[in-house]
Amino acid sequence: MTQSRAVVLASRPVGEPVHSNLRLETRTLPAVGQGQVLLRTIYLSLDPYMRGRMNASRSYAKPVEVGEVMEGGTVCEVIESASPSFRPGDIVLAHSGWQTYAVQDGRSLRRIDPARGPVSTALGVLGMPGFTAYVGLVEIGRVRPGETLVVAAATGAVGSVVGQIAKIQGARTVGIAGGASKMAWLRELGFDVALDHRSPAFRSELSQAVPAGVDVYFENVGGAVWDAVFDHLNDFARVPVCGLISQYNETSAPAGPDRLPRLMSAINTKRLVVQGFTQRDFVSTHYAAFQRDMSAWLSTGRIKYREDFVDGLDNAPEAFFGLLKGRNFGKLIVRIGDDPTRPTP
Ligand code: NDP
Repeated sequence: MTQSRAVVLASRPVGEPVHSNLRLETRTLPAVGQGQVLLRTIYLSLDPYMRGRMNASRSYAKPVEVGEVMEGGTVCEVIESASPSFRPGDIVLAHSGWQTYAVQDGRSLRRIDPARGPVSTALGVLGMPGFTAYVGLVEIGRVRPGETLVVAAATGAVGSVVGQIAKIQGARTVGIAGGASKMAWLRELGFDVALDHRSPAFRSELSQAVPAGVDVYFENVGGAVWDAVFDHLNDFARVPVCGLISQYNETSAPAGPDRLPRLMSAINTKRLVVQGFTQRDFVSTHYAAFQRDMSAWLSTGRIKYREDFVDGLDNAPEAFFGLLKGRNFGKLIVRIGDDPTRPTP
């Protein structure tokens, strides 16, 4: 019987999650049944959506129950297989959560070819976040050459890809992020303008950055950034509502006047398209095209990416709390075990 170390949801957070909401424990895994495989976790992806899964309320996915292993995307090595599709040594993309080993149904796995690049990219630029950027832009943003696109959390897993694809498509791009080192990285990624949302002059800096208004605002954060961008939206602007990370720890509505009438009026008079989406809805229709396009852009250096590695399952909770505060710099990944495709020098 395999023993697995796991992070489970110990209690539901109220506001910001804290260490007592998560618990490390050792679990005995069931034997591998017909069609199943035993996986060893190499990398665990940490993503903002996990905060929503800690709440009892259902969104487009069901919550993690108290006592259950925290949900998450992983890159794993197959250790034992009773599935005709996989052999020991195969590297796969799984959704096996915050744990060192897992028994999974072979049909839930996707094989990763290590020859295509670092296998960790299956959790970032070549995986769910990159795909989110791609479909949000292709299907809703529909940016055209010469238009202005604004995106926040712009050095992150989704935002960095949004800005670079928009640039490939001929747009003028404004990236918003927090802190000086992130500004430098935005410029390296090719954003036309880099803005720090923590700057006291952020609102006026944004006004100067978008003299012709905003045609696409790719919404990743909500809050103060959305408030600032809202006034600059052009007629027929598109707003793919991808995520609202500034609100994920909120326990009550923000103070101040009701801004809904102003928003509805702008949607009406400016003929705005404001559309929420989840990448899941597009997997069957767009994933193959994404893989083809992104692989080509990566191999020709047209898209760059940055990964932020943290070592060890024990450090996953702290890293996750940091993600909600902007302490990550690039796609946040926890190294859980050795990567056989990247031997240590
Ligand atoms: P990131 O790697 O971008 O990390 C999150 C970043 O959000 C932080 O680094 C921080 O960057 C920024 N941030 C946090 N709080 C605030 C705040 N109050 N105001 C402004 N920025 C803030 O995460 P992802 O790229 O994985 O995700 C980005 C967004 O996309 C999230 O909202 C997420 O929920 C959403 N998402 C949606 C999906 C979908 O299918 N709809 C799928 C995947 C992600 P900084 O330091 O620059 O402020």
